Amino acid sequence: MEDRILGLHHVTAIASAAQRNFDFYAKVLGLRFIKKTVNFDDPGTYHFYFGNEVGSAGTILTFFPWPHITAGRRGTGQATEIGYSVPAGSLDFWMKRFDAHNVIYNKPSERFGEQYLPFLDPDGLKLELIVSKSADPRTPWTTPEVGADGAIRGFHNVTLTLANRQATADILTEVFGYQLVEQHVNRYRYATDTVQGAGIVDLVEVAGEAPGVVAGGSVHHIAFRVKDDATLMRFRAVIERRGLNITPQIDRQYFHSLYFREPGGVLFEIATDNPGFTVDEPLAELGTHLLLPPQYEARRTQIEAHLPKIV
Ligand code: ZN
Repeated sequence: MEDRILGLHHVTAIASAAQRNFDFYAKVLGLRFIKKTVNFDDPGTYHFYFGNEVGSAGTILTFFPWPHITAGRRGTGQATEIGYSVPAGSLDFWMKRFDAHNVIYNKPSERFGEQYLPFLDPDGLKLELIVSKSADPRTPWTTPEVGADGAIRGFHNVTLTLANRQATADILTEVFGYQLVEQHVNRYRYATDTVQGAGIVDLVEVAGEAPGVVAGGSVHHIAFRVKDDATLMRFRAVIERRGLNITPQIDRQYFHSLYFREPGGVLFEIATDNPGFTVDEPLAELGTHLLLPPQYEARRTQIEAHLPKIV
C-alpha cells in the first residue's frame, strides 16, 4: 500500500497572457491562487499555481504564461482534457456564469453515468466540469461569487489521447496500480482506489490522428502523487528497470519530482506531498507574494521589473 500512486498531484499547462490566465482561474472559476513564482528553468516568466485552500495534491493546476507562445493543437501523445469535480446540481450555475463571462462551452452531456460540461479557457485549453457519481468529500475553496454549492472540489480525471493505448495502460496498471474500470467505444477509464477524487485517468485511443502540438492552450505534463521521497525513489527504480529514461529527483520547492515520458508520448511526473505550499509563505498569505527559489533571490530586482504586474 505504501508504494501506491495516490492519484493526480498536479497538472501543468501553457497559457499566453498572464493576467488573462489569472482572471479566468482565480476569478471566473473561483480557484485559490496559491503560488506566484517563476518558471525555475526560465525565471523571466511566471509560474502560477491554482488549487484549494492549502494546495492539496489533486487540486493543483499550474500554468506557464508565456506571452508570445503560439497556439498548440490537440492530438495524440497529449493530455487533451482536464476534468474538475463539481457538486450535483451546479451545472446550471456554471452555464450562467460562463454566459456572463463569455466562456465557450458545450451543453452538458453524459459519460459513464456522469453529467459533464465541457468548456475552453481563454487560450483554448479544454476542461470539463463533472458531477462525479462517487462521493467527493473534498472541501472546496470558495469565493463571494462561487459558493460551496458550486465550487470546484479538485480534479476528477485527466484524459490522454493516444494513437495506441496499450503501453500507456501498462504503466498505469503495472506500475501505478490503476485498474481498468469502464470502457465505452474508444475511451478506457482507469482508476485507483487509493484516493477519493483525482483518482481517474481516461485513455482515448484514436489511431491515425496526428500528434498534438504542446504550446499555448495545451497541457505540458501531468503529475502523479506519492506520499514521500522514499516512495518517489522506489518508483524511480521500477521505471528505470522498465527501460524508460527518468530524471534524477528534482527539487521543485513545493514538492520533489521525477519526470519521464511514458511510451504513448505524454510527459509524466511523479511528485511528493512534501514540503507543500506553506514552505515559503503562511497559509493565509498564499499567492500574495512573488516567491523565488533560493538560486534566483539575488536577481529579484531584475526579475520583478521584467514580469507583468498581476492584479
Ligand atoms: Zn509538474
